[in-house]
Amino acid sequence: MKKLCVIGDPVLHSRSPLIQNAMLRELELPYVYTAETVPQKGLGAWLARAKAEGYAGFNATMPHKEALVPLVDKLSEEAAACASVNTVCIKNGKLYGTSTDGAGFLRNLSDAGVNPAGKRILLLGAGGAARAVLPALLSAGALSVAVCNRTADRAERLCALRPQVLRAAGFSPEALRREAEGADLLVNCTSLGMGGTGGQFEDFSFLDVLPAHAPVCDLIYHPPETALLARARARGHLALNGLGMLIHQAVCALEHFTGLALDAERMCAVARRALNR
Ligand code: NAP
Repeated sequence: MKKLCVIGDPVLHSRSPLIQNAMLRELELPYVYTAETVPQKGLGAWLARAKAEGYAGFNATMPHKEALVPLVDKLSEEAAACASVNTVCIKNGKLYGTSTDGAGFLRNLSDAGVNPAGKRILLLGAGGAARAVLPALLSAGALSVAVCNRTADRAERLCALRPQVLRAAGFSPEALRREAEGADLLVNCTSLGMGGTGGQFEDFSFLDVLPAHAPVCDLIYHPPETALLARARARGHLALNGLGMLIHQAVCALEHFTGLALDAERMCAVARRALNR
């Protein structure tokens, strides 16, 4: 059996082994996928071990996505655009790093019939998830993106990449209301609303001014419906959680690991069945 895994710290809560093993079983492929706790300082040593032990590849989650960027031998365009690596293939002792988060995000939108092309987008957050989502939105033809983040300079640094279409804005209730007015799509990339230590939005008045046609997409999938999504749905907005993105990024990762073009619809159904069990 060829070895695959997800590394992170913490990682034992990760759904990736469940999703990947379900897809591998369905496809009858000779791989086994595990979760391995790798602390921040242990990444270099773990990479050497993975090469020595013949791993075919691995996924990475917190805190390794950025740290892997300078450590891989070849970085894909997608990974360079978001300065983050979540998928690494190991071939002949060389590390090939990419990021499937942006593609997973777009495929999830597409499944729901949402096309960012020509849209004015309000993006909340400027952390790792926002860095993956932003280039994906731009590559899909977004007209403009307002990036609202609590720490202003993080949003400003992100927006400096394409000042013609990106605009940094604050995270006060007034700033959020100002940016929500006239937005065609709202994407929450903050951890506000996430189960456990995610915190919560203090004020949802931006939903009062968000146009009714604008879908609201939350990257969070635990809980399946955040307070943001519940309120948006109650107001008649299309409300999308992050589970589809999680599954689609896993399908994209498996395509990289195996070199196979997979039937995304079939693989998503397999993953959802495994998660519901
Ligand atoms: P991160 O790098 O730690 O960024 C966290 C973001 O949330 C930052 O923008 C941060 O603002 C903001 N934030 C945190 N606490 C806040 C508060 N009290 N008030 C206002 N803003 C606050 O985390 P990440 O990797 O981007 O992940 C963000 C969320 O996306 C998580 O819930 C994660 O589970 C989810 N996610 C889902 C998928 C998926 O496949 N569906 C993939 C990746 C991430 P500051 O810059 O001011 O700190």
